[in-house]
Amino acid sequence: MAIFHCANCQQPLTGEVQPGESLRGPERPPGNEIASPRMALGTFKVNFDASLLILHPDDLPGTALHSDPRRLTGCCGPAGQDGPNLVCSGCDAEVATKECDCWTDNLVALIAATVVEEPKAL
Ligand SMILES: [Zn+2]
Ligand SMILES: [Zn+2]
Repeated sequence: MAIFHCANCQQPLTGEVQPGESLRGPERPPGNEIASPRMALGTFKVNFDASLLILHPDDLPGTALHSDPRRLTGCCGPAGQDGPNLVCSGCDAEVATKECDCWTDNLVALIAATVVEEPKAL
């Protein structure tokens, strides 16, 4: 188990998570509805170049939505195409991008460079 903390203020950003596999591939299912979450609750997956940690959207209790509404554009939820849209709720540092609109994936991508993992799981 691991908990990812804000590298800036050390506040926990995630709940307890463990390495897991995607529930489906990167292609979103056809249709105009919000896709099922890419990751199961309580799991994370490191992306291909280790710059992002992919999580379930409900696994980030220590984050808050970005204060700039331009980062939150989307029709059913934030599309996540305009830069990081989740900040640390303790210090406002940009830490993740959430995408859960009807034409995007449904996940949160935590920016690896902005977090520290404790205890080390890998
Ligand atoms: Zn939509
Ligand atoms: Zn912080």
